[in-house]
Amino acid sequence: MAVHGSCHCGRVRIEAPSAPAWVADCNCSLCRRLAWRVAYFPPDEVRISGETLAYIWGDRMIGIHHCPVCGCGTHWRTLGEDFGRMGVNARLLDGFDESAVEVRKFDNAG
Ligand SMILES: [Zn+2]
Repeated sequence: MAVHGSCHCGRVRIEAPSAPAWVADCNCSLCRRLAWRVAYFPPDEVRISGETLAYIWGDRMIGIHHCPVCGCGTHWRTLGEDFGRMGVNARLLDGFDESAVEVRKFDNAG
């Protein structure tokens, strides 16, 4: 069943194919600051509407998008190689409850 979400101000809307069974809690220097919980989906199964701004971290080939008005991190997409997946900030999804899903710790510190 599709799940929906939005940023705080509502300008960016997200539709994903299903509620995530697990999310990533990553400790890289960016996620540590943003506190994202990332759910992964095939890019062609996610619809993002509304304007977003992409932050591109150094030479990492992903665009990390946020709402330009309220600042919520919304999703990331590859800019180069197609991984067959993209990341959605599960915190923005309606009804997301971190205690009800598996939270996998990703160790990308360094
Ligand atoms: Zn917003």
